[in-house]
Amino acid sequence: MGANLLTLMHEGDVSAGTQFLEELSQTPMRSGHSSPGVLKCEWRLRNAAGAWMTVDNVGTNLLREPVIGGLVLNTRDVTEQSVIKQQYMHQAFHDPLTDLANRSLFLYQVGHALARQSRHSHPVTVLFLDLDNFKTVNDSLGHAAGDRLLVEAARRLASCVRASDLIARLGGDEFAVLVEAAESVDEVLVVVTRIGAALSRPFMLSGKEVFVNASIGVARSSSGEGSDELVRNADVAMYVAKTRGKGQYVLFEQQMHAAALERLVVEADLRRAIEHEEFFLQYQPIVELATGDVIGAEALVRWMCRERGTVPPGVFIPIAEETGLIVPIGRWVLRRACREAQRWTRDRGLPCRITVNLSGRQLQDAGVVEDVRLALEESGLDATQLVLEITESMLMHNTELSMQRLKALKDLGVSLAIDDFGTGYSSLSYLQRYPIDILKIDKAFVDVIDKGGEGPVLAQAIVALGETLRMRTVAEGIETEAQRGTLLALGCELGQGYLFAPPLDAAEYWQLLLARGVREPRSNDRRRDMRVRVS
Ligand code: C2E
Ligand code: MG
Ligand code: MG
Repeated sequence: MGANLLTLMHEGDVSAGTQFLEELSQTPMRSGHSSPGVLKCEWRLRNAAGAWMTVDNVGTNLLREPVIGGLVLNTRDVTEQSVIKQQYMHQAFHDPLTDLANRSLFLYQVGHALARQSRHSHPVTVLFLDLDNFKTVNDSLGHAAGDRLLVEAARRLASCVRASDLIARLGGDEFAVLVEAAESVDEVLVVVTRIGAALSRPFMLSGKEVFVNASIGVARSSSGEGSDELVRNADVAMYVAKTRGKGQYVLFEQQMHAAALERLVVEADLRRAIEHEEFFLQYQPIVELATGDVIGAEALVRWMCRERGTVPPGVFIPIAEETGLIVPIGRWVLRRACREAQRWTRDRGLPCRITVNLSGRQLQDAGVVEDVRLALEESGLDATQLVLEITESMLMHNTELSMQRLKALKDLGVSLAIDDFGTGYSSLSYLQRYPIDILKIDKAFVDVIDKGGEGPVLAQAIVALGETLRMRTVAEGIETEAQRGTLLALGCELGQGYLFAPPLDAAEYWQLLLARGVREPRSNDRRRDMRVRVS
């Protein structure tokens, strides 16, 4: 009683409060109506205990009311609601793990910065970061350790930028920074280098030193782009940085867009495809050339994409390799192929051999041996019925590692084949040391085999090499009777190609097995005996 309302009001609300009261006093009874003018406003008031409370006010102008002659405020305590509202607002715009801004808030602030920029004129910069080895940490040390890593990474990021720069976690292991006040690219690069250095220092997790790097994409506003576009440009540059190796940064350039964008879209679709299991397998029979008897099949993956229809492996496998998505895809292929082969074996009462392609990237993954072991164990398929195909170029990279990996796979009891043999550059001495059972003669050599002249020379050399190294040869992409005849004459016993059958859906392949039966391939040694007898 007797106090001036404004002295009870929070300093930050006084000017709005004063303005409200002035407005209210200018809002007399609405002319022609008997109801008085009413306005609403919220401010903070100090209560008797000295604490701040948020109140909601409904003001009524009764200045002209003879009995009252004043402004009447109906004031309601809304402190609790307002705290909850603030919490909701905070949650809606922040990442709960790191308490950094989320994507919505980040985009909103970038939008604001762009609007301010048109007045001040230095460009707005967005950095897009992705941690390089995060998935490995998550997979090997568990999600709790992954979470701690993210929190620590967020803390280090904060130490690299100005308090006025906004840091956001956009999801997973992706972060973004809005740098508003950098005048030159050099100034930005100082920040980028600082961030790179901070994140390359080891992280201590579960008593282990863990190394992650960040790939960083940098985009500067030029003219008229919106916040979405600027962030996407930084994302594209980050993507390019990733493809150049880990721990790099790249400045966005316009021409990166088209190519990277398509890849990004495919990549995003692929990730979704893995979640939704949009893949299926086709099976191309592998036959004995002399008789046409089926001795097994090669499993070939296809992607049934909702938007694109059936996507051939030539399109998505390279992207899956680049992004590492081939590892989960390949795991799925292995499991599905083994399960199917075991079902056929059971239902047909005859062993059904199955061949699965492994990409180089899968072989680099230490988990591949366990993946194969599990696929066999889960399906109950006998290891001798599984053939793994690897490409020749794989053997040439990282030779010691591939040697160990192949030996570990071989120890499971599976057979190994070299795919597309003759197109890479195998060193013959390595070829001898690797535990390889089968050479697959690339289609390129089969194509020219019946063209006369030098045509058959290379195929012949590969068959001879196979015999010397005691490896079986399988010719790929046989399309004509003439090719089959020549291959037989050269001593190649097995093959696959459209002449016999294209890749078939599981049901079609099963029908073929029912109609034609499946045979165990003759063992290498028996073949040798036979050849001796014949000659
Ligand atoms: P690849 O392993 O050499 O498979 C043989 C490819 O030749 C298949 O193409 C097959 O459809 C095709 N082909 C078979 N016979 C003929 C023929 O007579 N004429 C012609 N013109 N082509 C024939 P596809 O299915 O498009 O696969 C392409 C490549 O994609 C495969 O080559 C393999 O390297 C890769 N791939 C397929 N499935 C997988 C998979 O599950 N994992 C991995 N890592 N790679 C796979
Ligand atoms: Mg293959
Ligand atoms: Mg091949």
